[in-house]
Amino acid sequence: MGRIPDETIQAIRDRVDLVELIGRYVALKSAGRNHKGLCPFHEEKTPSFNVNADRQIFHCFGCDAGGNAFTFLMRHENLTFPEAARELGRQVGVEVQESDSRETGLYEQLRELTLEAKSAGLGVVVWSYPRGSGISKDGETAIDVCAYAAQIAAQLGAHFIKVKPPSDHIEQDAARKVYEGEQVPIATLTERVRHVVQSSFDGRRIVIFSGGGKADDEAVFEQVTAIRDGGGFGSIIGRNSFQRSKEDALKFLSRIMDIYK
Ligand SMILES: [Zn+2]
Repeated sequence: MGRIPDETIQAIRDRVDLVELIGRYVALKSAGRNHKGLCPFHEEKTPSFNVNADRQIFHCFGCDAGGNAFTFLMRHENLTFPEAARELGRQVGVEVQESDSRETGLYEQLRELTLEAKSAGLGVVVWSYPRGSGISKDGETAIDVCAYAAQIAAQLGAHFIKVKPPSDHIEQDAARKVYEGEQVPIATLTERVRHVVQSSFDGRRIVIFSGGGKADDEAVFEQVTAIRDGGGFGSIIGRNSFQRSKEDALKFLSRIMDIYK
């Protein structure tokens, strides 16, 4: 899976006729510039599946499936983004050449989803959690890796970036030289949060921090305080709130809200 150049994607977009494409799989009836049919993604007897010829998007009011030609083909034919792009390219006579990097292939998919969400007026939340064989377990929350991941999410169009609270571990030797050389302060969680927020277009994107695994209350409050002081926008609290009684959870969450106030 590789990176497909933007111009190629755009050329395919320009040439594909979504009504024609979907019409091969779904019997569509036209109602002006809108076309209606039975949704291929859920069982139904009355049509709630719409294809908009002007905007080249589809939407189902029954199951909320929606997207463009790429996402339709991906979902209908169970293809990855590059596979769908190659198939559409073949159909409309645009040659798809890819560089071979798995990461950029994934970036391309995320960018496509981001554009899709934005075209529908939706905000985009990106869970920026680096993982995989290229980094160590400690590296997943290393400050250099977290800051870079947040930066990439911002570049790919995220409005909201969700990251894990970074540790003071530095994964890459090359990065260590820079952090030490430039004396980037990363000793405390507050400093590390500030660094990650700065890496997200200097705080012009909303950066939220995951609450992590079940921890003792004071440790969570301490972490939340550090996130607040570092300019973080908030925390996502999951297990730490629902693995307790309702009354206790509400008390716990209001303490956290008080810290952010
Ligand atoms: Zn549907």
